Amino acid sequence: MSHYKLGLQFAKEQDQNDELASYRNRFHIPKDQHGNDLIYMTGNSLGLQPKQTKAYINQELEDWANLGVEGHTEAKHPWMPYHEFLTDNMAKIVGAKPIEVVVMNTLTANLHLMMVSFYKPTTKRYKILIEADAFPSDKYAVESQLRHHGFDDKEGLILWKARQGEELVRYEDLEAIMEKHGDEIALVMIGGVNYYTGQYFDLKRITKLGNKHGCMVGFDCAHGAGNVELNLHDSGADFAVWCTYKYLNSGPGSLAGAFVHERHAHDKTLNRFTGWWSHNKNTRFNMRHEFDVIPGAEGWQLSNPPILSLAAIRASLDIFAEVGMKKLTEKSKKLTGYFEYLINELNHKDIKIITPSTPNERGCQLSIQVKNTDKSLHRKLTEAGIISDWREPDVIRCAPVPLYNSFEDVYTMVERLKTVLNA
Ligand SMILES: *Cc1c(COP(=O)(O)O)cnc(C)c1O
Repeated sequence: MSHYKLGLQFAKEQDQNDELASYRNRFHIPKDQHGNDLIYMTGNSLGLQPKQTKAYINQELEDWANLGVEGHTEAKHPWMPYHEFLTDNMAKIVGAKPIEVVVMNTLTANLHLMMVSFYKPTTKRYKILIEADAFPSDKYAVESQLRHHGFDDKEGLILWKARQGEELVRYEDLEAIMEKHGDEIALVMIGGVNYYTGQYFDLKRITKLGNKHGCMVGFDCAHGAGNVELNLHDSGADFAVWCTYKYLNSGPGSLAGAFVHERHAHDKTLNRFTGWWSHNKNTRFNMRHEFDVIPGAEGWQLSNPPILSLAAIRASLDIFAEVGMKKLTEKSKKLTGYFEYLINELNHKDIKIITPSTPNERGCQLSIQVKNTDKSLHRKLTEAGIISDWREPDVIRCAPVPLYNSFEDVYTMVERLKTVLNA
């Protein structure tokens, strides 16, 4: 039996009893032309701006204005080690040790850097396995790595597909692929939470399976970081990458994260692309030393990073540190469970949620398939003040984000969806 109830009153009560409800006030909520809050369901695409972000960025602009180059050492938060101020909080969010995590570059760039080190094809073992409906950038990236190493990007790519008539991929199918092709596969690279279906994979299970067959295993956690408890260290994954502008609310195009498992931290034999920011911090500025790589994930940095972007990330991570992933995911499960309940209560013949119904197999996003419709549905929802995401041919993706979405948001979303469908 569900403990959820229909009606606005129930949503209001849930918000009143929600320990995290006040965090909504810490964010700028986009408004319609009448000044009413829009129902923002696309934190999975671009997270909202924390009100404190401006002050964090302004601090750096001021220090730059007042100090010029001296800001590298004399700024309130010195720029030289600035990325280090983000490490502990980021490590907690993704369930890693600080030595395993760094904020640098952008997501797809990090994916390539990781593949330089962890995709080590031989003539016998060179294939890459990804899920069939991987995010396009990931697919393009692995295809280009295959070509870069002189392999055919079709023949070298093994796809983990959902069965005919199904949307979610099954572990037993992955196991079957590995039994058959495991010794040809150099790298298993999966989106930790699938961007389209919202399916959250068992990272540990996939890693164990891959490692058993001698494959390296990496995850793109763009839809996982700040959304689910990833426990990257315990997963045993060789590497992971993620962006910070989705659930981590750091602004469009902001820098990304990378995880390299501790067991690789001191391995100087790993092939990698390097720059002066991967070099030992103590001798970096002597400029004439032989290359001496920093242990851990920091050893994959290339350049001195854009401080204004790091400042925005720091502003957001400080909020995550206050709340903690445990409380956040607890609320998230209630909020998305409520969303699922309301959608199911619509009892609409054309509507089907393709995201797993088991809370541990998803984050906050629900991907809602609406048959017999087209993109005009999305337009009508937008006109009704619902900011959602449309994926062809017939899926609306909605992500009630526990940091700033309310139960009332979810209630209103489903009410307006109902109105639009019945019109
Ligand atoms: C959002 C997203 C990207 C975007 O890549 P960028 O390099 O940040 O532009 C790539 N992969 C996945 C799985 C994503 O969800």
